[in-house]
Amino acid sequence: MSRVLIVGAGHAGATLAGLLRQAGHRGPVELFGDEVDLPYHRPPLSKKFTGGELEQWLRPPEFYREQDITVRLGEPVTTIDRDGCRVRTASGEFHRYDHLVLATGAEPRALPVPGADLAGVVSLRTLADARMLRTCIDERRSLVIVGGGYIGLEVAAVARSCGVEVTVVEREDRVLARVASPRLSEILAAHHREQGTRIVTGAEVTRIDGAGGRARAVVLGDGTTIPSEAVLVGVGAVPRDRLAADAGLLCAQGVVVDEHARTSDPRILAIGDVTRRPLASGALVRLESIPSATEQARQALATITGAAPVAAEVPWFWSDQFDLKLKIAGLVPATPSTVLRGDPATGRFALFHHHGGTVTAVESANSPGEFMAGKKFIASRARIDPDRLADASVPLRDVVH
Ligand code: FAD
Repeated sequence: MSRVLIVGAGHAGATLAGLLRQAGHRGPVELFGDEVDLPYHRPPLSKKFTGGELEQWLRPPEFYREQDITVRLGEPVTTIDRDGCRVRTASGEFHRYDHLVLATGAEPRALPVPGADLAGVVSLRTLADARMLRTCIDERRSLVIVGGGYIGLEVAAVARSCGVEVTVVEREDRVLARVASPRLSEILAAHHREQGTRIVTGAEVTRIDGAGGRARAVVLGDGTTIPSEAVLVGVGAVPRDRLAADAGLLCAQGVVVDEHARTSDPRILAIGDVTRRPLASGALVRLESIPSATEQARQALATITGAAPVAAEVPWFWSDQFDLKLKIAGLVPATPSTVLRGDPATGRFALFHHHGGTVTAVESANSPGEFMAGKKFIASRARIDPDRLADASVPLRDVVH
């Protein structure tokens, strides 16, 4: 009966612990977390942080006891002794493993400017961060968001819906520059502006001014000063791969794994946001999404239990902004050829990006049918007719050659 130690009680780690029991694994399963809360859903932190319930547990608290999963919260793992097959925790205890799974996630990238440590400047990864952001917004009626990525825009939408004055400052020339197509960036920026959000692009924050230890204003490179006592820094996340790197595991901005979630040490697996993983196309990427974390938890399960490998999935994720339920699948190419189906003015549309006659990515809003079809086109490498795809009166099944 092998002993499985999972480092990181987040989405990937907790999912794997549950899957192991579901699959009949009888050996000890221990989950180490450096946060003090039981594993919870992170997506609501940027979508429901005002009003709604933040504490959305992945499993009911009694689940872990009932399933004989040992959860050690507030107990960071500090070192891995690969020769001795054991880990050491911050409290100095050693724990032996047969399989070690690293699911340490990612952490917000710091904003390297003076004033970033003032009170009122927050980032958003944990429940504790979300509680702090909620307080900041409740107490003040304006918010500057540094970084126009998905998390920044989701927070912008919620804050605007509550009547908060919101400014988004983005260094690139468009929001979502690294993760979305130019067309989607344009549509979303227009939507946010219509709702009263101010978006400043091509602007770099050079410092945050404060008084009495609290933020007062965000200052841009051209000297523009935006007064605000609440600042959300959303400039991306970096993998928490230090533990793995210190143990000599192969890392390249993330723990490098194969399609079975194996690291460069066969006894150590890694899953979730901390990994750099291969896709079916062969590309090595770092994905930060629930579906990817779940897929890798299933890969790790198969590796640990010796079950058949899991079929590769098309990467996808979702985002909610105002009334737009966005679902995105595939990897958006740098210079896409794009077909628009639907009408952004109605809030229902899908952007299909294609290359050489096959769809490589789909970005959809309030269009579950288009999203599902797009995901299938990507997986099957179906050859599509772009003109028919653009015509919403042509059924999706009839756009394939
Ligand atoms: P995490 O959930 O971050 O868990 C890692 C855990 O490991 C953390 O609790 C961390 O504290 C702990 N840890 C790290 N080092 C140690 C150590 N040495 N010892 C012990 N514990 C350690 N994805 C989507 O698909 N859709 C969305 O809409 C979406 N919205 C999001 C909104 C927000 C605000 C955030 C922050 C993320 C969102 N994501 C979304 C991404 C998604 O939440 C992550 O992809 C997912 O949580 C990754 O799971 P993980 O287990 O790899 O990492």
